[in-house]
Amino acid sequence: MKELSAREVWRAALGELQLQLDKPIFETWLKQTEGVNFDNSRFVVEVPTPFAIAWLERRLYQDIQKTVEKVTGHVLDIQFQVKSGELAPGELASPEISPLANGAAQDSPADAAGVNGGRVPPTMDPLAETTQTNGHASNFVFNPKYTFDSFVVGPSNRLAFSAAQAVADAPGHGYNPLFLYSGVGLGKTHLLYAIGRTCAAKGLSVLYVSSEQFTNDFISAIRNRTTEEFRSRYRSVEVLLIDDVQFMSGKEQTQESFFHTFNDLHSSGHQIVLTSDRPPRALPLLEDRLRSRFEWGLIADIQPPDLETRMAILSAKAEELKIDLDESIIELVAKRVQKNVRELEGSLNRLAAHSRMMNLPITLEATSNILDDLTADTARHSIDPERIIEEVSHHFRVTDHELLGRGRTKKVAQARQVAMYLLMYELEMSPTQVGRLLGGRDHATVIHGAGKINGEINEDNQLRQEVLTIKEAIFT
Ligand code: ADP
Ligand code: MG
Repeated sequence: MKELSAREVWRAALGELQLQLDKPIFETWLKQTEGVNFDNSRFVVEVPTPFAIAWLERRLYQDIQKTVEKVTGHVLDIQFQVKSGELAPGELASPEISPLANGAAQDSPADAAGVNGGRVPPTMDPLAETTQTNGHASNFVFNPKYTFDSFVVGPSNRLAFSAAQAVADAPGHGYNPLFLYSGVGLGKTHLLYAIGRTCAAKGLSVLYVSSEQFTNDFISAIRNRTTEEFRSRYRSVEVLLIDDVQFMSGKEQTQESFFHTFNDLHSSGHQIVLTSDRPPRALPLLEDRLRSRFEWGLIADIQPPDLETRMAILSAKAEELKIDLDESIIELVAKRVQKNVRELEGSLNRLAAHSRMMNLPITLEATSNILDDLTADTARHSIDPERIIEEVSHHFRVTDHELLGRGRTKKVAQARQVAMYLLMYELEMSPTQVGRLLGGRDHATVIHGAGKINGEINEDNQLRQEVLTIKEAIFT
């Protein structure tokens, strides 16, 4: 029988692997590889980057070895080496890593599990959650709403968007860290999730945490004497996404710990993405050495969108909500609501709810009235109900999904009642509205739940403190 060349063996193996592995994994890690050499003990594969070597050895070694065995009939040691003339780690974007479509993670187990708010309870070990089959390593579910595709790009956010995409295309190889900053509701978390989602689809282990969660994790690690686990957990991720780092201000020990985490990840060529409400130089009470780390990579800001972008965002959201809006209405809303995208979304939701409730088409006049109401409201409460849900879930460490769902564990039930209380008493929403927002509950349930909390906070110090903490987070 004719001897197969390394090239032919590898091509056959790739054919097999392509069938076994998820497409994004295959495309990212194997497509650009070549079989270059083999003897009766080892098989040498060339890959584009050192990072790919580390990844393949860790995640796919056995799959590859078995497949090569199938083709050659021998158990061979697989050795990876970097193609000559390729980039060293830390150099700029590797063209070898192909950008992936956002939908690429469509059939990953994480997606099948459904939506959660994107929050990992800090008690949950993200690595324990990691699925190892087929090289999967997504450690949590990203909100499917937040993708690059659904992000409307305009002059105010183009730099941040491109940087986020570049990072997602070649994590650890370009801007590291990427630091995004903006006022609230302008898309930082959206972009962070989009990066996470794209990277997770490539099989990278991704960890998203708010800086408060990082702090809480750190504190409980100290309390429980599990700092070793804490360290190894954070330092083993390939893409670390830290949201709202401004909350690390003044927390010296947390900053110190994060400084070391940062250095470890960065020196291993792992990607770090940070968001904040202001640029590093304007963060108060931040250690200088951490500030300077934040400035190492690329800093990109997001400005409030101009009129045209606001209109484009409204059109996109209207389409998503499947409501038909006349151009003149879109323009009216975009002209009146200027502050941020969250508010734009809120207005649109209001319009949609109104027309559904009244069973009327959305006219220019109705829009104008609703916007008047809204402006009057927001002067007093510029708070989006979603924000309350988000904050309550966050505080009680339940997912939005659980909060809106049917589960009745004590923790979930209490979180839900606190949400009812805040929506009713702070936002002055009607029990019916609250019920609708909280997964379709009837108004009696809401009145009961909100009333219960309203009574209990007078007696229960801890509960009162908790509600206060949430209120502070929401209203400041
Ligand atoms: P931030 O984290 O900056 O406070 P978010 O990422 O939470 O803001 O964005 C608030 C809301 O606005 C989200 O629902 C997000 O999807 C939406 N959003 C923000 N910017 C855009 C954009 N450019 N295109 C589409 N949606 C956007
Ligand atoms: Mg955010």
